[in-house]
Amino acid sequence: ANGSLTVYEAFEQKIKAKGLPVKAQLLEEAGGHEPYAVNISGCHGFCQMGPLVRIEPSGVFYHHVKPGDVDEIIEKHILNNQLVERLLYHHPATGQAVTTQDQIPFYQKQTRVALEHCGRINPDDINDYIAHGGYKAITEILFEKTPEQIIDEVLASGLRGRGGGGFPTGKKWQFARAATSDKKYIICNGDEGDPGAFMDRSVMEGDPHRVLEGMMIAGYAIGADEGYIYVRAEYPLAVKRLKRAVVAAEEMGLLGYNILGTGFSFKINIKEGAGAFVCGEETALIASIEGQRGMPRPRPPFPANKGLWGCPTIINNVETLANLPPIIINGGQWFRGFGTAGSPGTKTFALAGQVAHTGLVEIPMGMSLREMVFEIGGGLRDGKQFKAVQIGGPSGGCLTEAHLDLPLDYEALKQVGAMIGSGGLVVMGQDTCMVEVAKFFMGFVQNESCGKCVPCREGTRRMLELLTKITRGQAGEEDLALLEELALVVQDGSLCGLGKTAPNPVLTTLRYFRHEYEAHVRDKK
Ligand code: SF4
Repeated sequence: ANGSLTVYEAFEQKIKAKGLPVKAQLLEEAGGHEPYAVNISGCHGFCQMGPLVRIEPSGVFYHHVKPGDVDEIIEKHILNNQLVERLLYHHPATGQAVTTQDQIPFYQKQTRVALEHCGRINPDDINDYIAHGGYKAITEILFEKTPEQIIDEVLASGLRGRGGGGFPTGKKWQFARAATSDKKYIICNGDEGDPGAFMDRSVMEGDPHRVLEGMMIAGYAIGADEGYIYVRAEYPLAVKRLKRAVVAAEEMGLLGYNILGTGFSFKINIKEGAGAFVCGEETALIASIEGQRGMPRPRPPFPANKGLWGCPTIINNVETLANLPPIIINGGQWFRGFGTAGSPGTKTFALAGQVAHTGLVEIPMGMSLREMVFEIGGGLRDGKQFKAVQIGGPSGGCLTEAHLDLPLDYEALKQVGAMIGSGGLVVMGQDTCMVEVAKFFMGFVQNESCGKCVPCREGTRRMLELLTKITRGQAGEEDLALLEELALVVQDGSLCGLGKTAPNPVLTTLRYFRHEYEAHVRDKK
């Protein structure tokens, strides 16, 4: 979006024009010089500073690079070993230029597990993935471990579903492992649809083989031989890279029939979703793959027992799957070394809104909201004062200044009426109207309600009407009471998670910013 491809092309052209040896040539042909390679990468995370260029092996990091800067980088840095100072990041506290990524405050407090390779490897090159330890976990377990040992390791890690629910992954697998069936499936849920969220997209675009390897590990553990990646069609780059990754892995014998001669077979299909938010819900997603209308159905039966085409099916989110290879390699206890006792590991967040540094972030669970917004995010833009964050997208809730020291983990957020959700985090400044925020999210879920059950279909519509009335200054006290009552009915009576969590933004803003609703009512025209 900000022109990285034009910078990439400029590097390719200039390197060629200068007759510098490139990676495609053999080392001898390059006259003994190390050949230069221009590589694409996935998201580095510091989106707002792009296009980003990192020179390896030194790791020097340039930001806001334009095609016109490429000549200078080649002449000065690559050929004469001098830094291009004006393109380096300058530390906000000291004003000093810093050369590498790990010296930049945005990255310093992060711990990258799921995003380990994003921005580091070429997502279209399976050899790059393998050179960084890829497919080691699946190879090891196929030769050395039983499915039960894998499940035990994942249970020991305490990994919980990163799609929002937070259900222990190993426990979910146990149900599917115990189910007797000739056919079982693994589904990767890549139907990320929350406004402001782009974590799963970044993993699929930046490290697609990691997702495939995670699916294979899950498949081996539960006894599945086939998997589906359900990915939004609005993520065309993710679709393209996943497809290429599947072909590359198949060609290498790492995917398909009788992998590495071990007798384990695993096939992966890619299914493009049509952009319905409700298809992120497990049973709606299954219906969509089966070619039916994407609508949830009551549970039980749970998909682990009766899922895709009636077979035991495990649906794991992209980030959950991306955590599996390092857990297998380093052990469950290693993973427990990050995060809190109840929420082990790390979590990715899409940091957006009025924060100074927007981007893709991965932190150990339990880090405070204050550290996230002010240290990683660099505080608010344009000298604005912090007012609130909307965490967890339309299913989550609004948090205030009083919550800045709250640890970001499943339990702490639940206690204040919010949830991590998949990890969207929108920061808002002093001039944001919280009733407008609630209205925006209500408009979103109302639009996305599949219409199957009355509380959600009708309730969200009426709530949106009331919110519109309030923001237009046409509502009275009785409308506030009705809004609150309706919110509880929708929460209690809806069939699936979309409806059950739809009132969260309204309920949390009513709880923490009631005075703003009252001000609108007072100003009734
Ligand atoms: Fe559909 Fe909403 Fe009912 Fe879910 S709660 S089944 S989205 S109408």
